[in-house]
Amino acid sequence: MAVRKIMLAGEPVLKQVAEPVQKINREITTLLKDMRETMQEANGVGLAAPQVGVSLRVILIDAGEGPVEYINPVLSNFSEEKEDMTEGCLSIPGYVGIVERSTGVTVTYKDRRGKERLLRAKGLLAQALQHEVDHLDGVLYIEKAKSLYRESDLEEQD
Ligand code: ZN
Repeated sequence: MAVRKIMLAGEPVLKQVAEPVQKINREITTLLKDMRETMQEANGVGLAAPQVGVSLRVILIDAGEGPVEYINPVLSNFSEEKEDMTEGCLSIPGYVGIVERSTGVTVTYKDRRGKERLLRAKGLLAQALQHEVDHLDGVLYIEKAKSLYRESDLEEQD
């Protein structure tokens, strides 16, 4: 396993539309392991393969119950209900923004065994799925954000 370098905004790979995974081979399982290690080291909630320089449709999300891998994720049934959510991105360190996201979304994907899965996500997981799948389409949250702040300007309240 290896921690991979996280690509920062400005890298062309982050603007590309990523290719679907054709076959879950050793290259993909190694990528998944490395992404896991990279995300944990960076303390992230989510990571998309393009963020480690690999233009494939693979994302990893830990919404509090451990990391889950999504291969070729496709989102549908976006809830009508939307909310302004605060988000950041490992590729844009030091900033947070307010982005309007659907509060619920359905995802179909493959797990590492190639099994097709279907999940209805809400809350943080729904938000993270929308953020990470945007990465696969070459979109960064700063392009959608209503406002953007330096993390150091965030006021904390207990
Ligand atoms: Zn991101």
